[in-house]
Amino acid sequence: MVDLLGQYAKIKPEVDQAILDVVESSAYINGPEVKNFQKELEQYLSVKHVIPCANGTDGLQIAMMALGLKPGDEVITATFTYVATAEVIALLGLTPVLVDVDPKTFNINIDDARAAITPKTKAIVPVHLFGQCAHMEPLLELASEHNLYVVEDTAQAIGADYTFSNGTKAKAGTMGTVAATSFFPSKNLGCYGDGGAIFTNDDDLAAKIRKVANHGQSVRYYHDEVGVNSRLDSIQAAILRRKLPHLDEYNAAREKAAAFYDQAFADVDALTTPFRSDYSTHVFHQYTLQLDPKLDRNALVEYIQSKNIPAMIYYPVALHMQKAYKSERYLVGDFAVTERLVDSVFSLPMHTELSEDQLEFITHTVKDFINNQS
Ligand SMILES: *Cc1c(COP(=O)(O)O)cnc(C)c1O
Repeated sequence: MVDLLGQYAKIKPEVDQAILDVVESSAYINGPEVKNFQKELEQYLSVKHVIPCANGTDGLQIAMMALGLKPGDEVITATFTYVATAEVIALLGLTPVLVDVDPKTFNINIDDARAAITPKTKAIVPVHLFGQCAHMEPLLELASEHNLYVVEDTAQAIGADYTFSNGTKAKAGTMGTVAATSFFPSKNLGCYGDGGAIFTNDDDLAAKIRKVANHGQSVRYYHDEVGVNSRLDSIQAAILRRKLPHLDEYNAAREKAAAFYDQAFADVDALTTPFRSDYSTHVFHQYTLQLDPKLDRNALVEYIQSKNIPAMIYYPVALHMQKAYKSERYLVGDFAVTERLVDSVFSLPMHTELSEDQLEFITHTVKDFINNQS
């Protein structure tokens, strides 16, 4: 699905030197690379505070801890997402309240979120799935009407731009109360191990986040509250600093591959290519299509894989159908859109190093299967 080695080859000298410099400096934890990466990412995003942490899941958890959410509080999120989003809600003793997604963008359906609000609701977690922002303007209005925190899960959308109806633009992860992202190697901005960060424009919240992420201490060995230990290593920060200046170029390369796929599949009735909203750019963390339900999606994926093309299904099971997250709250059929998506979506290779030859081969293979089936 990704070609991390090809991407590394292009920046190898700077990255190798940066890693070596950290090793020789011995500033392995909270060294200057971490501070500098934090500042450079703040600048790139135009956000007041970036707080690096160990991974994206930690980022979501720390954000919710810092908001002071209490067991029993309800947190609304989409059922069509990666598990981490709901996992941290449940781990903190909060109640995940899952809602359906929009059939075009696969992002949280705002009307369904509105209908799920109760007096116990404290936060909404929009996930900018596959690289395109959720519809933040109505979501932020809804949140402010009901006094809810908005925690953006921007693990798949770093670098995406949202445009408000008055023309103002904002980067994914800078619009809500707080946001968390991941630097997992295959993410749009990935390090060479685990990494993550939390973003906020709120000074007080940023101070709380730093405290929670550092064992609940603001003064060393004085612990005001129960916290966690979550840091970004200096080596990972050094790698990220060398990659951040290329992020826009990486996202443009993904967009170019997506445009190739779009065009190749434009005349294939059995396929629905990714929808592009007018309020958000798409940074294509994944290129995810829907196959006509009359055709056999699993057979298609197996066929593509048999040609050594690493197709994947994101996500084959919605959260409300997972053993760990099932609840009497949800009945089969409650989330018609998601239930259709889990049976019809598949994702093709998407990364910064896709060549035209590879794209030709992939699109021909997909079309061959469909032509033989219909
Ligand atoms: C990757 C991802 C996460 C978690 O990130 P990790 O760094 O792997 O913990 C959370 N949410 C979404 C939507 C993701 O894609």
